[in-house]
Amino acid sequence: MRETTARHVVIIGGGIMGCTTAFYITHGKRPKGTTVTVIEPSTKGVAQGASGKAGGLVAKWAYPKDLVEDSFEEHERLAEEYGGEERWGWRYVNCGSWEGKSESANTNPNTAPEGTKKKDLHKTAELDAVLAEIFAQPREKKGMPEDLDWVKEELSGHYTPMAELYDTAQVFPYEFTTSMMNLAMEEGATLISGRVTTINKADGQVTGVTYIDNETKQPTTISATDVVLCAGAWSSSLVPELPISSTRAHSIIIYAKEDVELSPYVLFTEIMLPSGETVTPEIYGRPNGEVYVCGPGDDFPLPATVDEVEVHKPACQSLWDSVTGISKELREGTLEFEQACYLPLLDVASGPVVGELSKVAKKLWVATGHSCWGICNAPGTARILRNGIMGDSPPRAASSLRPSKVLPGMGDD
Ligand SMILES: Cc1cc2nc3c(=O)[nH]c(=O)nc-3n(C[C@H](O)[C@H](O)[C@H](O)COP(=O)(O)OP(=O)(O)OC[C@H]3O[C@@H](n4cnc5c(N)ncnc54)[C@H](O)[C@@H]3O)c2cc1C
Repeated sequence: MRETTARHVVIIGGGIMGCTTAFYITHGKRPKGTTVTVIEPSTKGVAQGASGKAGGLVAKWAYPKDLVEDSFEEHERLAEEYGGEERWGWRYVNCGSWEGKSESANTNPNTAPEGTKKKDLHKTAELDAVLAEIFAQPREKKGMPEDLDWVKEELSGHYTPMAELYDTAQVFPYEFTTSMMNLAMEEGATLISGRVTTINKADGQVTGVTYIDNETKQPTTISATDVVLCAGAWSSSLVPELPISSTRAHSIIIYAKEDVELSPYVLFTEIMLPSGETVTPEIYGRPNGEVYVCGPGDDFPLPATVDEVEVHKPACQSLWDSVTGISKELREGTLEFEQACYLPLLDVASGPVVGELSKVAKKLWVATGHSCWGICNAPGTARILRNGIMGDSPPRAASSLRPSKVLPGMGDD
């Protein structure tokens, strides 16, 4: 039933889930007097975790299907309505798998720090393991599009498109997330700099949260009718029953030389090194000559806060060596950023859990475990939460993601 009295919503976490949820609540029908507060521990503001350091692919072929359908349409609408092209680099992009060889002998594929294990992010189905000996073949035989001119033709083995052009798009994830928060704040949302330490409850229902304020360093309590847990990889630090784990992944950002225009391609590569080993960096050509590259994950432990995430330099060096070994344009570019972040993974399913954790506490909502598709799936996720909190009928995707389905024992039907 639709809520008629003011809701006081506290959102834990200023990643894409928290900020987009704040946006949808403040931009939808809500009872008069409704308030929205986002609490984020980073002293640098929102989008400091995976949401600011992801690739930014938004794809119709992502998963889970229902959530993607809703999210993709919403991404298109948001871009149209709020100037996404200018504001967060929204554009359609070609996407394909590229197999070839590197001319650089530098690359060290063993990037995980000693004592940790390298982990695959499982974004694509296994790329074809076999690199055929066809480097001498003409461009068309290799499937190389005419305008994919920033990887060396003679190093290219084969290119396979993964989707039709309008089925894949991209955003700058940091700019998308901060824009969602700014738009929410224009409609009255508040951002608090602090770390939530407890979700407070009484009679089986949430009453608010307690957080350590970054400025005063004091514990402060804020009351709420609804609490939304969007703490990504850190979600189980506040609700220990949640089976959330994490994978650290590194990425780098390269700026091409000023006069170099890179055609819009995202490449899932398999690069054979001179040593015979292979590396599989993902390369995202972005607007304005920016190129994002990410690699495999590792199981380095999650630190207490996002500001304490450690960057393992050799992992970034390996990404640079891998991609500059196949592209002159990238080799002549500048390495601007080396960074790491943690992917939130739900241990019991491939997709996220989104809905009310009513068996833990009534009006405690959660959105986490989005693995490698959280940028894509944020709008659909936020719509499920908004509708749940306001008592409106849920979007179709909600049913398969709700806690009662994904985490039996944690939510009611
Ligand atoms: C290398 C890489 C590439 C990726 N590429 C893509 C892509 O191309 N497309 C795509 O769709 N997805 C991609 N993803 C996945 C995407 O980045 C994540 O699914 C998404 O960012 C998760 O968002 P989140 O808001 O749940 O988590 P986060 O972004 O981690 O945000 C959680 C926030 O909660 C805060 N927090 C933690 N503890 C507390 C607390 N106690 N109190 C208050 N706040 C707290 C944290 O500080 C953090 O800011 C990629 C991920 C990685 C790692």
